[in-house]
Amino acid sequence: MKFADLHLHTFFSDGTFSPEELAGHGARLGFAAMALTDHDSVEGCARMTVACDAAGIEFIPGTELTAELGDTELHLLGYFLDTHNEKLLAEISKFQIVRQNRIHEMVAAINKLGVPLEAETVFALANCKSPGRPHVARALVKAGLVANLDEAFERFLKKGRPAWVPKAKMSALEGMELIHQAGGLAVMAHPGLNRTDEIIPALVDAGMDGIECFHTKHSTATSERYLQIAEKYNLLVTGGSDCHGFSKNKPLIGTVKLPYEYVEKMKAKIAEKKLSTTDAHR
Ligand code: AMP
Ligand code: FE
Ligand code: FE
Ligand code: ZN
Repeated sequence: MKFADLHLHTFFSDGTFSPEELAGHGARLGFAAMALTDHDSVEGCARMTVACDAAGIEFIPGTELTAELGDTELHLLGYFLDTHNEKLLAEISKFQIVRQNRIHEMVAAINKLGVPLEAETVFALANCKSPGRPHVARALVKAGLVANLDEAFERFLKKGRPAWVPKAKMSALEGMELIHQAGGLAVMAHPGLNRTDEIIPALVDAGMDGIECFHTKHSTATSERYLQIAEKYNLLVTGGSDCHGFSKNKPLIGTVKLPYEYVEKMKAKIAEKKLSTTDAHR
């Protein structure tokens, strides 16, 4: 059997592995295909292409966009992207600037509570264009201001806590259009975490291609539920570990092994789309 992991992060967003380390873990675990889905970034895809090539792993360039439909936040995965697509890069860089500004706001809120963290410390630690709350949490731990990441989120960063700052998000419809015009497939990430099933029909109407049925935090029953939804709306089925590095002393990658036949279905849909656009231009 061939397997894939289609949800992975590196240190180009809030993961801790380099692309080379991640590909190394993928090779060790025997994955046939891997997709990189850093938050609001495709920056790691160039190195991941080389690393996967060297390891004999098929690489699928991707991203995980933070998006919203009305008041509902969702994460949109994009797969088989042209990572040089100008519009994609321009839009992504806007949201990276939003992320960078938000670091300053979160640090200011933390300072107001009498905790002396500096934004520069967070940026130095993040060392990427797409910083987020995990980087603030790690900087707090590193500076000895909290005992661990959980404490950082519980005291400061979780929604509703004093240093939680809302983030301007891309509209989900624009996000899907952005992914499509870059040649990719748009997939709703970890629907079981967000509990936002009511927006699925609208996303399907707007051209969503797939749904992430298999995820580390989905129970068997949750995966089953989304497999049924995928069937109902004729959506592609995807899955991945959402590995951000080590979790309980073990790399999280390997917790989800997506049968490769699902990747083949994704590729068939890409081929179908390409064919219909060429037909339209005849
Ligand atoms: P952001 O995109 O900056 O809002 O950060 C979201 C990221 O923070 C998620 O992708 C997770 O990697 C991480 N995260 C969210 N909540 C927690 C939590 N309670 N503990 C640890 N990490 C979290
Ligand atoms: Fe993350
Ligand atoms: Fe996510
Ligand atoms: Zn993720």
